[in-house]
Amino acid sequence: MISLIAALVVSSTPPSILIQGGLVIDGSGRKGIIEDVRIVGQKIKQIGHLKPRLGETVLVAKGKAVAPGFIDAHSHDDGWLLTDPVAESQIRQGITTAVVGQDGGSSFPIRAMFQLYADRHVALNVASFAGHGTIRGKVLGKDSHRAAKPDEVRQMAALVGKEVEDGALGLSSGLEYEPGRFGTTDELIALGKAAGKAGGIYISHMRNEDNDVLKAIDELFSIAEKGHLGAQISHIKIGSARVWGKAAQIIHKMESAEKKGIYITADVYPYTYWQSTIRVLIETQDYSDRKQWEQGFKDIGGADHVLLGVYDPDPTWKGKTIGEISRMTGKDPVTVCQEIVQATAGGGKGKEETVVVTAMSDQDLDKFIASPRIMFCTDGQRGGAHPRYAGSFPRILGVYVRERRVLSLESAIRKMTSFPASRFGFKHRGLIRKGYQADVVVFDPTKVIDKATTKDPEAKPVGIEHVFVNGIPVLVNGKPTRATPGQVIRRTVRLR
Ligand SMILES: [Zn+2]
Repeated sequence: MISLIAALVVSSTPPSILIQGGLVIDGSGRKGIIEDVRIVGQKIKQIGHLKPRLGETVLVAKGKAVAPGFIDAHSHDDGWLLTDPVAESQIRQGITTAVVGQDGGSSFPIRAMFQLYADRHVALNVASFAGHGTIRGKVLGKDSHRAAKPDEVRQMAALVGKEVEDGALGLSSGLEYEPGRFGTTDELIALGKAAGKAGGIYISHMRNEDNDVLKAIDELFSIAEKGHLGAQISHIKIGSARVWGKAAQIIHKMESAEKKGIYITADVYPYTYWQSTIRVLIETQDYSDRKQWEQGFKDIGGADHVLLGVYDPDPTWKGKTIGEISRMTGKDPVTVCQEIVQATAGGGKGKEETVVVTAMSDQDLDKFIASPRIMFCTDGQRGGAHPRYAGSFPRILGVYVRERRVLSLESAIRKMTSFPASRFGFKHRGLIRKGYQADVVVFDPTKVIDKATTKDPEAKPVGIEHVFVNGIPVLVNGKPTRATPGQVIRRTVRLR
């Protein structure tokens, strides 16, 4: 009897873990300090020079960095997390929180989604935006490829307000996609007002990311200003040679807006290439127009910059650039592209097509990566050809911090942790602080780096050693534990 009581007492004590002797980079941006960190239950309990307690698990972190868990500001893991809750590609990067519901697409209603995540248990913490495209579909039904009528805008605004009140971080849009692109600026201002009134912000895959990117940024600024809410540019990029070199100007514009009381931020992934459909190379969507294709190639630096990453109709074309396919088949690059468009018309099974296009300049990307106003994201998809899904965060730490010194380690960690946590209003996360949720990453700053490439997009990064989510280890010595301690993070504070 006594031994049973003793066993109950032991098991009701939350586990205690001491991370000993690591360089604690606390997420605030200040310089790292060698300290010990004690995790008890879900929380960070103590920081300082600590002695191990009897029965405590000790992790020796000498020579390693100890940081808050990383926050992926633009994640497409929404659906995947429920089918594969372990999220191996994410925890291997040190990601502990995914911000989903991006590009205008979200689970609706958000209440049901939060319930589903809480019931199923997933490895990551999850927060979500409410999608403009999703809500447009709810109100306009199948007839969503047109401008909305005033009454429909009112109905959409009411739904946006409700979703944000129920815990969405704000309104997301994908204005290069359907049905988002049929939404006018006025419609987005009206919905932005509803999101802002309820305490949320606006986040957007803008209407254009190449030749007209500056115009698209103006639209985002005007939605923020007239909708009276803060805004974030999703996966910021300058995807056309015609506009290269404008990164500093864009960052300056964001800084100046703050003087007018408009808080604009952005997120970025660390690659000079994007992934989408080959169709986005043609602005007019007239795929028969050879001149348009030629201009499209010119803007991104030629047909060798377009890699066909996924291509169902002909597996021998997959993994090759349009230039390579052209040389292989003796057809000119425009003809190759037109054939791809034709063979994949309508999409769906057996007709999938994805291209990876190198179209950004290193100089612009470096400026975005260094800016204190821009956080990080993966924007990746499982099964996609783009290595960002499995490599983004270790790539920042390995390539941009250690090898190229584009930014300091402390600054990079701040942009992965406390900055997104404060931007999205995550309470008690994003810092190594007493009483904070124990989302913690232990990594080797001398080794951490990405391994994923377009040829092997799922290759595992190295150097991320231990990862804790809400105090529970999800990665130990580089191996997933398959634990699923993630929590739903509802917006509870007013975002600026
Ligand atoms: Zn997007």
